[in-house]
Amino acid sequence: MRRRRTACILLYYFGTIGRRLPKKAMFNFDTRLQYLKGVGETRAKQFAKLGLYSVGSLLRYYPLRYEDWSLVVPIYDAPLNEMCCIKANVLSAPVEGRTKNNTLLCKTSVSDGSDILNMVFFNNKYISSSLKEGQEYLFFGKLTKNRHGVVEMLSPAFAPARDAEKIRPIYRQSGTLNSKFIERCVLLALSGLKGNIPETLPYDIIKKYRLPSLEAALNNIHFPQDHAALDAAKRRLVFEELLLLQLGLLRMKNDNMSLDSPSIQNDFTGEFLDLLPFKPTRAQIRCVAEAVSDMKKGRSMSRLLSGDVGSGKTAVAAAIMYSVCKNGFQCAMMVPTEVLAAQHFATLTKMYDTTGICVEPLTGSTPAKEKRRIKDALINGNCHIVVGTHAIIQSDVSFSNLGLVITDEQHRFGVAQRAALGVKGKSPHMLVMSATPIPRTLAMVVYGDLDVSLLDEMPVGRVPVKTYQVTTAYRNRIYAFIKKHIDKGRQAFVICPLVEESKSGLVPAVQYFEFLRDTHFKKYKIGLLHGQMKSGEKYAVMSDFSSGKISLLVSTIVIEVGIDLPNANVMLIENAERFGLSQLHQLRGRIGRGSEQSFCILVSDAQSSDALERFDILCKNTDGFAIADKDLQMRGPGDFFGNRQHGLPEMQIASLMTDSKALLEAGKVAKEIIKADPLLKENEHKNLLLEIERLFSAI
Ligand code: ADP
Ligand code: MG
Repeated sequence: MRRRRTACILLYYFGTIGRRLPKKAMFNFDTRLQYLKGVGETRAKQFAKLGLYSVGSLLRYYPLRYEDWSLVVPIYDAPLNEMCCIKANVLSAPVEGRTKNNTLLCKTSVSDGSDILNMVFFNNKYISSSLKEGQEYLFFGKLTKNRHGVVEMLSPAFAPARDAEKIRPIYRQSGTLNSKFIERCVLLALSGLKGNIPETLPYDIIKKYRLPSLEAALNNIHFPQDHAALDAAKRRLVFEELLLLQLGLLRMKNDNMSLDSPSIQNDFTGEFLDLLPFKPTRAQIRCVAEAVSDMKKGRSMSRLLSGDVGSGKTAVAAAIMYSVCKNGFQCAMMVPTEVLAAQHFATLTKMYDTTGICVEPLTGSTPAKEKRRIKDALINGNCHIVVGTHAIIQSDVSFSNLGLVITDEQHRFGVAQRAALGVKGKSPHMLVMSATPIPRTLAMVVYGDLDVSLLDEMPVGRVPVKTYQVTTAYRNRIYAFIKKHIDKGRQAFVICPLVEESKSGLVPAVQYFEFLRDTHFKKYKIGLLHGQMKSGEKYAVMSDFSSGKISLLVSTIVIEVGIDLPNANVMLIENAERFGLSQLHQLRGRIGRGSEQSFCILVSDAQSSDALERFDILCKNTDGFAIADKDLQMRGPGDFFGNRQHGLPEMQIASLMTDSKALLEAGKVAKEIIKADPLLKENEHKNLLLEIERLFSAI
């Protein structure tokens, strides 16, 4: 049936738009969508909103789901309240009427021999003209019981029985581009490209993995012949997408590695580690050694340092920077917040106290005069290390001899920002630090352009944080608990999701702070920290807290990243249901950094199973890798990593979580291809290269 329709459309197409295009110019993947019959400029603009510009991109706009019209059930057996498809004759011409509130109503009844069924349509004036008495149709919809107990099908989709596709695609729609219209355009595109869809995968891979051709896969992903063909199409497209992803990342890595970065001849880390007030963990020593050995090789280091909160990444970074500086090069360390910049600056200054290494802080709020002084010091080489926010990637900052760039808590930075720092020097080495522990296999894919060092050991003497979940009814008891700890000389956090009052019923930080200050904690020194404060104020509050002038800090989530305060041992998190699993783990990581027992109390009245599951996981686990695994399972990698910020192209069909087998297979193939043909110059890789560029062009 479809073939007949395709043929008609083909005829139509050659008869009409065929003439608009230059002679013999068939469609190709790059043909603009506005040349598709019925699209034009307005619709093309709407397609553009979906990120679709060309025929090729439209064909890669896979259906969101399918309606299975091939599975016809007899009316007698049709289930209640579930989508199903029935094939029946219209018994009588549809009758129009009005409901009490004047909605147009159209009724008819149909039969398939097993039973009779009433069909009811609302607000559709075309029903009477499109449903013909005595004709057979497929109806797709739900059977429901009305008030009188009569079973009927409400506003089903329908199509003449002889003309209905078997498995029909449903597309994500947008504005006036409904699924039907998109389907029509896809059909046109497929017909226009018939026999002309270039294969992307090398022939031997298709053969080895028994994959359908791209043309067959695209036809079947949109208009499946049957379930087996649909499965095969999916398998191929998933494999292909994961292959492109990994090839793209491998190429980036190769690009980086071939750069000529400063050679770090001598390893000075030993003498630095001796200066530390603690004994480094074995993991810290290993991670430092991995980085130094990269930089010795005379190739460019691109390394990820992944370690749970509190695992001591700062000391690792400090040791690596020490070696780089002692070899005569400068370092830049980029962090996402001013508070964190200030903290790192203080930590590093202390660590390098007797070493002669000069560290300077540079953020958006550094006074202009000071900024000028620091920039000069960077150009003439008097400043060895600069720590700051994105202010350090601004164009007027330059270095005399930049050797290493470190980004901390990088999930907050995009690939582009990282790259901007990279061009500051003569291709400096790169170290990316992340507190989001991720499973190793996934890390290798997601950070395919980076080598990975895992800081998988906690400093000795840490006592795991005890975590509890309570309802708001327990607040007074928790306040008493906090006071008990403050009286013993400890400090505590209260975390709220918002700064200001809102209608949402959430606890806003400012009001909450005032309330605590004027009531329960009248006799205590209490401070407030939130993102809308000036950075000078923020800094003052933070230093008061770390020097012990403040005992209780009410804060929004600005506190999340990187803050290190070993004396704080209680954290109360209000509206805990508002935070994600990894986020809660990060927050909790602010305490439990000393040798005494710490407590994290999640306050929430939430009832949703999702929130309760998250609380349960946190109360039972302190290992960041285990929590990350659970978070991945619950949310999927898109939300987990925040794909877009992260700089990974969005997957159209593959899932980094559930398609792990294909991920590994495709990874193996990607490595083989890159090994044989690093630049993908060979003819059979030509189309792969085009597709990689297409995939990565979006980021
Ligand atoms: P993160 O990995 O979260 O960035 P930090 O670098 O802030 O962790 O370190 C957390 C705390 O642990 C700091 O107070 C730091 O001084 C301390 N620390 C780091 N390494 C060790 C170690 N090997 N032994 C004891 N304490 C350490
Ligand atoms: Mg840190």
